[in-house]
Amino acid sequence: MVTTTDRIDIAALAIAVADTISAHAEELTALDQAIGDGDHGLNMKRGFEAVRAELPALAGKPLPDTLKAVGTKLVMTVGGASGPLFGTLFMTLGKELPADPDRADFVAALGKAVDAVAARGKSQAGQKTMLDVLYPVQQALAGGRSAREIADVADAAAEATRPIKAMRGRASFLGDRSIGHVDAGARSTALIVRAIAETLERGA
Ligand code: ADP
Ligand code: MG
Repeated sequence: MVTTTDRIDIAALAIAVADTISAHAEELTALDQAIGDGDHGLNMKRGFEAVRAELPALAGKPLPDTLKAVGTKLVMTVGGASGPLFGTLFMTLGKELPADPDRADFVAALGKAVDAVAARGKSQAGQKTMLDVLYPVQQALAGGRSAREIADVADAAAEATRPIKAMRGRASFLGDRSIGHVDAGARSTALIVRAIAETLERGA
């Protein structure tokens, strides 16, 4: 697992995330069609492809500045409810991380970033949203789990949204009919976490 920023290739991470989001756009759309309005796959693909296109302009910038720029780009391009929330996540990471963070810095910054998403969404764990993946991932990182274990935690946490009744976002309009479907934002969050974890594990 990563300890210092000189071992982080942020461009490689962003490319891995854009690749997986684009490859799974139809799956994310199908999840959002079941209990939302069916735009989540396209929203996320548009946002992370915009981040990919921005990478040459971000080359050589300090990690915090790059993360803030990624968050801003996501707010501008993803749209929907999830755009401001993913934007908040990355902007807060950029705000909280020092230029040369160690693992403890990542744990602390991710804690602040997830809390910022919850504040922005007026939401909490257990309401069938992306937070149901973000909190377990933050805890797994804090608990010293490996990148591979964290990716597995994220996948299991996304799947665990299936029996929950949605209390936030469009899916909440369905009440009990939201039960039995995986939350689209939880699934996209798990895809992002796995892409980052696997890229870090390969030593990028
Ligand atoms: P929209 O719901 O506006 O169509 P998206 O489809 O892009 O936006 O994103 C939906 C996802 O956003 C949901 O699956 C859920 O994970 C997340 N979400 C929606 N509202 C909230 C909220 N208040 N707090 C946390 N996450 C939320
Ligand atoms: Mg939607």
